[in-house]
Amino acid sequence: MAAVVFGLLALLLAGPVPTWLARASWPIRSPRAALVLWQAIALAAVLSAFSAGLVIASWLLVPGPDGRPTTNPIDELRQLGIVPWTVAVIAFAFTLLIGARLITSTVRLAIRTRRRRARHRTVVDILSQAVDGDHPVSAADLRVLGVDEPLAYCLPGLRHRVVLSVGTINQLSHEELTAVLAHERAHLRSRHDLVLEAFTAVHHAFPGSPVVRGPGLGQAARRAPGG
Ligand SMILES: [Zn+2]
Repeated sequence: MAAVVFGLLALLLAGPVPTWLARASWPIRSPRAALVLWQAIALAAVLSAFSAGLVIASWLLVPGPDGRPTTNPIDELRQLGIVPWTVAVIAFAFTLLIGARLITSTVRLAIRTRRRRARHRTVVDILSQAVDGDHPVSAADLRVLGVDEPLAYCLPGLRHRVVLSVGTINQLSHEELTAVLAHERAHLRSRHDLVLEAFTAVHHAFPGSPVVRGPGLGQAARRAPGG
């Protein structure tokens, strides 16, 4: 019974619920609440799927001749019967597979993202122009690229950078520049990159899941971080 409840919950949270959230219009008005809800849904979907798998797999914990749970498949098979035993083994294997997939996807993405970001930071550090120390936007982590295209983004991490272009500085008023910098610094402070990274890892592990698909929030998650 518990397995059915967890299974249904996992299906609901992995499909219809995020689809509904992606179509809803209220996240535009309360993005912070929507992001927290979205994370909670994804986490609950993963935990429900794990729980369903583990509950079914726990059928294998039948007592052996000494009264303790046996690891002998013959004893398990004899006590459970062929169909429940097969279901339990498949559920256990599937649960392990989901776990392994999530872990490898998360680790692989974390390594790749940090490597790419470090390279990007080096390039930005080399190419950037010095900003006059008296300039209102001057800051230790700020880098200015000598291009006319309006650019403003951040590179998150411990050695973070805020990157602007000469075009942005020339085209914006002091108030507008302050607002842009505050926006980028909010990304860095709240570590929005980690939120996106977690969802990207889920997306890589399970590309079809609506948790990280759909026209609304899902698309926002796939946008380049730090913009
Ligand atoms: Zn932004």
